[in-house]
Amino acid sequence: MVTDSSKTTMDSWKDKERYVRILHDAEAGEYGVLAVIAYNIEQIVGFVRAAEQSRSPLIIQFFPWAIDATDGLLVRTAADAASRATVPIAIHLDHAQSEEIIKHAADNLPFDSIMIDMSHHEKEVNLQKTRELVEYCNRRQIATEAEPGRIEGGEDGVMDTAGLEACMTTPEEVDEFVGTGVDALAPAFGNIHGEYGPRGPQLDFQRLKMIHRKARGRVSLALHGTNGFSPETLKKCVEAGVSKVNVNKLVLEDYYEHFNSNAGKMPHTQLIEVGIQNVADLTSYWMEICGSTGKAGGYF
Ligand SMILES: [Zn+2]
Repeated sequence: MVTDSSKTTMDSWKDKERYVRILHDAEAGEYGVLAVIAYNIEQIVGFVRAAEQSRSPLIIQFFPWAIDATDGLLVRTAADAASRATVPIAIHLDHAQSEEIIKHAADNLPFDSIMIDMSHHEKEVNLQKTRELVEYCNRRQIATEAEPGRIEGGEDGVMDTAGLEACMTTPEEVDEFVGTGVDALAPAFGNIHGEYGPRGPQLDFQRLKMIHRKARGRVSLALHGTNGFSPETLKKCVEAGVSKVNVNKLVLEDYYEHFNSNAGKMPHTQLIEVGIQNVADLTSYWMEICGSTGKAGGYF
């Protein structure tokens, strides 16, 4: 692995930073770590249970929606659960698209990392704003992720970029974004947010591998847009160099199915308990697919 020693010295807090360390270890060990989106406490409990049972590292992430809807309480709850877990769990803010939400999150909430998503801007503005906000977060010892290129689509309060031109990430953009100081990049290589059409995902694996060659040892790669992925497709992405695997429906669909089928038909406490176990079971299944099962040992 190529390392930049001057950067390491300057940013020595990053050696112990959870998000960075979880992703570095994943890249070195050639496995993927799930980054799961949580919408409520049951899901947080289920995710943590999966990580404990599978002895797997984990990233729990939130859309900015969760900050607004719960006045940050959901984020604090997840951070509390992570601090008491016996496996490494990082708390991440996904797709923070305004300076205001990024500064609020960095100043007031227990995030280990924040995705500075300026991809709705043209590239020069994206780079400039990313650079400034990375510095803001890093001064508070918070790691960062950014999106070079543009992943099309939108989900759950995240701006829909379908009207904007989707741009695949180029190797040159990897260099440009590494220059902003981010710790992870979310490349666009045919992946989209939301639902894939009847043809399913059409991914450019050659591009992903090329991006990984450029990124290796400098920034980690984050995979976005995995709704409907098969285990084989996800494995191929991990083999091509992805370390952070964002999942939404893949780990939550059994939970929703259970609630849709059983709400009002069983005692509420049982409804919740079975729902939590559904989240835990499906999350453990995908941890196995990503290769992170049993990788939690040895730190934290
Ligand atoms: Zn995303």
